[in-house]
Amino acid sequence: MKNQAKSNIPELVDDILKEAIKFGASDIHFEPASDQLQIKYRLDGTLKTVETLPAAVSGNVIARLKVLGNLLTYRNDIPQEGRIEGIPGQPIDSESGKVIDKRLAVFPTIHGQRAVVRIFYENESLTQLDKLGLNPTIETSLTDFAQKNQGILLLTGPAGSGKSTTLAALLRYILQQFPGKSIVALEDPVERAIPGVTQVQIEPHGEMTFPVALRSLLRQDPEVLMIGEIRDAETAKIVIEAGLTGHLLMSTMHSGSCSGALLRLLEMDIEPYQLTSGVSAILNQRLVRRLCEDCKVQADDGTFHSHGCEKCHKTGFHGRVLLAEMVELDGQLRQTILQRTDMDGLEAVLESRGHMKLIQDGRRLVTQGITTNDEIQRVCRA
Ligand SMILES: [Zn+2]
Repeated sequence: MKNQAKSNIPELVDDILKEAIKFGASDIHFEPASDQLQIKYRLDGTLKTVETLPAAVSGNVIARLKVLGNLLTYRNDIPQEGRIEGIPGQPIDSESGKVIDKRLAVFPTIHGQRAVVRIFYENESLTQLDKLGLNPTIETSLTDFAQKNQGILLLTGPAGSGKSTTLAALLRYILQQFPGKSIVALEDPVERAIPGVTQVQIEPHGEMTFPVALRSLLRQDPEVLMIGEIRDAETAKIVIEAGLTGHLLMSTMHSGSCSGALLRLLEMDIEPYQLTSGVSAILNQRLVRRLCEDCKVQADDGTFHSHGCEKCHKTGFHGRVLLAEMVELDGQLRQTILQRTDMDGLEAVLESRGHMKLIQDGRRLVTQGITTNDEIQRVCRA
């Protein structure tokens, strides 16, 4: 590979960072093994090895990163975290928009330190609700929710499924529709600045935890609240109570499905009647990779696929789009929850009323040639 011959380590590291930004990578991994240092980019959510360097340069590459990140270069035995302020030659045009932050984390392993650089972009198109690629029915349900004065919207899905992007887009929508509304967001960490929203950084292991911040925040008279994540029963309880007392709340939960999120709240000792009167809707979402527009082709059977080109770093994909299912709590579903049902009971009610599942929403994207069936199966299995 082109960089292997390079003996100038700062230049080599700069090139790796610049190339990653050019392709809009969200992370760069520097993974040491016994005989080599592997460099990987996370492109549209998937790791791809882009370079393999000899083990001999491994220590120097990590040391250079630590200099850029203002870390202690003489400490190789402890994890460290920092920020990379700039790269000579910036700004770099990126497919994902302007770079707003670069965070570095190093970690000692038996083969030396591994490092990850996380890159944050200001992607304008992803901050608008109508640019997320949601199906129109769900988009309408979300804008309807945004008009309300009270209720709770829960987003669920695994880490990296774009939940915070959807929430940020929804907050922006509320701001556009109702300028002057008092909106507060509790986040861990604050990922992107949203003008017009009071953003609070939560410290899960410090004093400013979600329950502590949320409890005293309610005395600040907010109208709309975004809580980064419901991780424990205490937070769940305050969120539900706030949703029942004239606040519009949105938050996320770790769960694989809409029914799973509802049941998890019950497991967190939320009473069924509180859940049915507090929660308005659950949105379960995944991100799937978009087929690269420059190299995708249609097969005889009508399906689309791609072999990769320069623009997509030979991955065949470029950019991502949302796949989602939404459950709104109506009379029948409320009755079922009040009867303390299980997963099968909830799923049966959903099925009986023709609920559109994630995988069915995926067919829309496959038919339109936006992504592939394999891609839908991959994210729905995970
Ligand atoms: Zn391509």
